Amino acid sequence: MHFETLSVHAGNAVDPGTGAIRRPLVMANSYALPDDPSQLSWSDFSTPLYTRNGGANQGWLEEKLALLETAGERGDVDAVALASGVAALHAVFFTFLRSGDHVVCADTTYVATYTLLTRLLPEKYGITATLVDASDPEAVRAAIRPETRLVHVETPANPTTRIADLARVAEIAHAAGALLSVDATFATPVLQRPLALGADLVVHSLTKYLNGHGDAMGGAVIGDRALTDRIRADAQVNVGGVLSPFHAWLIMRGMVTLPLRMRQHCSSAQAVAEFLEADPRVAYVAYPGLPSHPQHELAARTMDGFGGMLAFAVRGDQNAFVAALRLITSAVSLGHDESLVVHVAGDDERARYWPEEFRTWGHLRFSVGLEDPRDLVADLDRALTAVLGPR
Ligand SMILES: *Cc1c(COP(=O)(O)O)cnc(C)c1O
Repeated sequence: MHFETLSVHAGNAVDPGTGAIRRPLVMANSYALPDDPSQLSWSDFSTPLYTRNGGANQGWLEEKLALLETAGERGDVDAVALASGVAALHAVFFTFLRSGDHVVCADTTYVATYTLLTRLLPEKYGITATLVDASDPEAVRAAIRPETRLVHVETPANPTTRIADLARVAEIAHAAGALLSVDATFATPVLQRPLALGADLVVHSLTKYLNGHGDAMGGAVIGDRALTDRIRADAQVNVGGVLSPFHAWLIMRGMVTLPLRMRQHCSSAQAVAEFLEADPRVAYVAYPGLPSHPQHELAARTMDGFGGMLAFAVRGDQNAFVAALRLITSAVSLGHDESLVVHVAGDDERARYWPEEFRTWGHLRFSVGLEDPRDLVADLDRALTAVLGPR
């Protein structure tokens, strides 16, 4: 089946209890035990037992995630759904790393990834990390050590939209006997499927595009069942950051329209990025769909679209500009139906890893929503005029 068809049907079926054509919301935290429970392990996740070990709605969502991430082509891939994207990232690090291990991580990632790998895991567990520009495969290769067990990359990266060449990074990780995990939250399985390019594990914040409606939170790790079973046994059952059935149900409903939404996010972001780049009141625009983006050609070759995320700055007071917006909402998070903008100043601790213009001007991370792009451009133009005068 094609991707759009899987998006509609995967994980759904007629409910045998009621005949309903949608799988129901099963709000239960435990399941009836078998007649003879003496052989059951309380850490088991293959028999319905307790919602921390696995639940009906989590299971249906996981089936949908695994099918979309592999375009239905690999039966040996499974997904683990957890309470948030950060719970999913932590689950990867917690399950596959131990004291003394080393990680090569992209220097531009979601902030919790940075904090976990540069502070919390080193301090608490003696795990070390080297941060590198992951858009340069040779930098990844040079950072590998004998004790490197994991390479972790985010592409497109938050907030710079830098792109990594996953096939080349996967080769380097595997030659060193390390796993490659990829945070593909910005790309979603519509624009790129890292497992097909050689990655071992894909992480998504389901809070963002996959749910898409700004209500539920969730996260997932997808990979070979041998790996996801280890995540279930260690991080799901024994750390316990599980997804609620209601959030699993909401996210599964949101995912039905993922391919349609991503097409609109991509085309609107392209229009908005082109408008901003052509405007002299704008200092810079970072968007993989612009030929000025340093990895535009790599993105065009390895992705099925450039995404809905961009970063830019105005040649003036970023906060005053944001305050002058009427339609575009100032809030964190991304990938929602509504457009969201957040101002991050140039003196952020991580800014030394960002391009110079991000440090000079700060940046506005812009999640281009599903509104008509003409209304978005009008709102941007109005706010630019309010702060900097007419073009
Ligand atoms: C938001 C985000 C996360 C964290 O997800 P939560 O659901 O907020 O925990 C991880 N990676 C990226 C790229 C994100 O944008």
